[in-house]
Amino acid sequence: MPYVITKACIDVKDGSCVDVCPVDCIDTSPDAPMYYIDPDRCIDCNACRHVCPVDAIVSVWELPPDQLEYERINAGFFKR
Ligand code: SF4
Ligand code: SF4
Repeated sequence: MPYVITKACIDVKDGSCVDVCPVDCIDTSPDAPMYYIDPDRCIDCNACRHVCPVDAIVSVWELPPDQLEYERINAGFFKR
């Protein structure tokens, strides 16, 4: 199952995860508050999680109850 970026990324947005993703499935835009993972391309390699300074990246199964909406928010970025 894909990984999901959660709200801890907001305003940090340093892009460390982008540099380590082997399939280039993490993206953002200048006006977006955070980075997002494309669930259709993520291969669950776990590389991004280790470099995030604020532990914003989790498996979709590990989303905290108050952040379940981030599954939809991540996927939605790539469907615009
Ligand atoms: S788990 Fe791997 S493939 Fe998925 S977003 Fe992170 S680095 Fe990329
Ligand atoms: S490494 Fe963490 S804080 Fe930095 S852009 Fe990626 S998810 Fe956001």
